[in-house]
Amino acid sequence: MRLSPTAARLFLRCLHLRPCSAWGGRGGRMTGRLKELWSYGRLLLKSLCFNALCNFDVFLDSIFEPVYWLVDHLTRWFGVVFVCLVILLTSSVLVIVYYFVLPLIISTYPAHWVTWHLCYGHWNLLMIVFHYYKAIRTSPGHPLQMKTDIPSVSICKKCIFPKPARTHHCSICNRCVLKMDHHCPWLNNCVGHLNHRYFFSFCLFMTMGCIYCSVSCWDMFVGAYNAVEVSVVLTGVSRDHNYYQTPEPLFTFTEKLFHKCMIYLWVLTSSVAVALTGLTLWHAALITRGETSVERHINRKEARRLRDSGKVFRNPYNYGKVENWRIFFGVKKRSHWLTHVLLPSDHAPFGEGLTWDRSVYRRDPTAI
Ligand SMILES: [Zn+2]
Ligand SMILES: [Zn+2]
Repeated sequence: MRLSPTAARLFLRCLHLRPCSAWGGRGGRMTGRLKELWSYGRLLLKSLCFNALCNFDVFLDSIFEPVYWLVDHLTRWFGVVFVCLVILLTSSVLVIVYYFVLPLIISTYPAHWVTWHLCYGHWNLLMIVFHYYKAIRTSPGHPLQMKTDIPSVSICKKCIFPKPARTHHCSICNRCVLKMDHHCPWLNNCVGHLNHRYFFSFCLFMTMGCIYCSVSCWDMFVGAYNAVEVSVVLTGVSRDHNYYQTPEPLFTFTEKLFHKCMIYLWVLTSSVAVALTGLTLWHAALITRGETSVERHINRKEARRLRDSGKVFRNPYNYGKVENWRIFFGVKKRSHWLTHVLLPSDHAPFGEGLTWDRSVYRRDPTAI
């Protein structure tokens, strides 16, 4: 494209460049001016994007934003699959127990053991089903999205609403959650103020149920495993010595099915027991300290920062070990430890989750 000399002069004046008589003859001057133009452009771009709150973390967050988006959406979708998986696997264990294990126990065990298995097994099952259903169906609790007098600690960058103490934004639910612990894909729900107790009780009773199943079925599992081993060896020997005759079946179809079911039951329940024991103990330690999973990371960081300046960090929501558990389970009197913890109960937790008592007893005067 060819520009007229006047238009070219005007364009260069806009860019603060004086026209050269010869474009190719003074290469050095031209390069210098281009560099000047380049730095001017960069400064212009920086001034347009400048934000005093920007730091390296914001930069990293922006870079990984597409990855977060993908993970959030996948977790939201996988949540449904995970819930179906929990229901399917639990149902398969129940079918095996009711079809094979329980009739065997009733026909072979003494009366007191039969009573124990019937009572404990059904109580544990009831607690698992109740707490899982409540953990899925109960909303974790959200702050009010309107102007209120409730004291807030900050403003949520996503919701653009005040955040009360212990509230955090869940990028999967795309909402702020009161006393947020974490987003659980196995529940397809956030764990927060209103359903934290249901989540923990589910983990606890599921762990107890899995340990109970794997311990109770140990003898049956060993018997089934040995039977399958013998069956495989004998079938192999029989095949080696007699090519043209079908070997006699060692076990009936029902017996074979029983062996396979027992191996499946034991492997599944024992592996879930190992994984869930770790998770339950971790959450029990957090509850004892009066922390949520999110606060654990924040508090650890804060403790390190204060240690460097010679101060001690004290969690303002730690009311003492027993008191933390009492508040967590919503126990108001002694009998509640039985009726609210060891029996299905849908009582609401203490407080509405918007304000928290920070009057913690401090022995150390340097504690913050
Ligand atoms: Zn939010
Ligand atoms: Zn969530």
